[in-house]
Amino acid sequence: MSNPFATAQRQFDEAAAILGLSTAERAFLREPMRELHVRIPVRMDNGETQVFQGYRVQYNDARGPAKGGIRWHPEETVDTVRALAAWMTWKTAVVGIPLGGGKGGVVCDPKWLSAREKERLARGYIRQIASFIGPVSDVPAPDVYTDPQIMAWMLDEYEAIEQTHRSGVITGKPLPLGGIAGREDATARGGMYALRECAHQLGIDLTGATAAIQGFGNAGQHAHRLLGELFGTKVVAASDSMGGVYSPEGLDFDALLEHKQRTGSVAGFSGGSAISNENVLCLDVDVLLPSALENVLTVENAGEVSAKIVAELANGPTSPEADQILFAQGVYVIPDFLCNAGGVTVSWMEQVQNASLDKWPRNRVYQELDAIMTESFGAVHAMRTERKVHTRLAAYLIAVDRVAEACRLRGWV
Ligand code: NAD
Repeated sequence: MSNPFATAQRQFDEAAAILGLSTAERAFLREPMRELHVRIPVRMDNGETQVFQGYRVQYNDARGPAKGGIRWHPEETVDTVRALAAWMTWKTAVVGIPLGGGKGGVVCDPKWLSAREKERLARGYIRQIASFIGPVSDVPAPDVYTDPQIMAWMLDEYEAIEQTHRSGVITGKPLPLGGIAGREDATARGGMYALRECAHQLGIDLTGATAAIQGFGNAGQHAHRLLGELFGTKVVAASDSMGGVYSPEGLDFDALLEHKQRTGSVAGFSGGSAISNENVLCLDVDVLLPSALENVLTVENAGEVSAKIVAELANGPTSPEADQILFAQGVYVIPDFLCNAGGVTVSWMEQVQNASLDKWPRNRVYQELDAIMTESFGAVHAMRTERKVHTRLAAYLIAVDRVAEACRLRGWV
């Protein structure tokens, strides 16, 4: 099993060497600044108490409050949380928003938890980490297997502890609790804006182009819909943890979503034939969108990737070895912490909205997101061209430089 934090550190080391960071800067930036490990006792519906392991990691907050989602997953480890917190740090830096990077996680399998058990787990987690987070210190959000309802319970528990309203302590909230219009599809939408810019640079017409999506969850579903709505791109394959489906004519989004909501998976969808998760990655398509979990493009399969563009909506889907192979093959990878930065960018708008008791209209969110993603993609692409390096390294060079500069200005290193 590969360790995602080891991957994150290798990626950082490569950028730090090129940037010529000092020994102290490297020592400081290749580890989290702070982390909290908690045990969460939860009374289950059957009356028994189960104890869950949870984490909150603040990787670096030199540029602003730590920011990062909370993942609930049976295979969650502290190193996964550390890696995701590091990537959040580089993500907020590469898009230039005044936030740091953090991440949270609970080791659990939500598929086996009732709604009431999820609520008790959400509240129990917040009771354990309440003194560690806050609207101007560390702000959680949803990630894999957590959603706006879970954010609502977490907000309520935090505000009950604090005995006041503090809606900016968490983002990705439902609209009536201070959520922001457009947060639900922000990750995918930001990825679409980056993809549009990338296709433009490569001279690829996205209208009528083909795409494959691994991971039909929040990010993947919205990507499917937006690929059709914004560009007329045909999604020919989609998969989730239970299996995949393929149709060269294109998968009908509404019908596929209805099937997934009814059965819990895209597998068995009548509008296409079955395809394995592995084969989705190697299909002959214009755009591949890994939108599930880490380490799916590796030395084993990177040589088989036929897509022209890999738009990483998931965090950490590509191993460092696979990056080199894809670069040598001429595949343009839009790296995770740029491609999926739309989520945190709109979360930051939610924080700004909450801090000023404001209410932003949807079109303002879309416009500002488009401007930030377009500018950030342009800067990373220019760095890639100038340095003749793969896009992930180009993005790292920009992000690490910005975080290191903030640490130096504070006199930390
Ligand atoms: P989600 O829980 O809504 O969806 C995850 C999907 O991946 C599910 O459909 C699940 O069945 C599928 N999946 C799990 N294991 C799989 C496997 N082995 N093969 C194929 N599919 C598998 O989560 P999400 O919020 O869409 O997050 C997906 C990725 O996007 C994660 O890497 C997450 O960190 C990243 N991301 C999400 C956001 C956000 O705002 N939601 C923001 C930035 C990055």
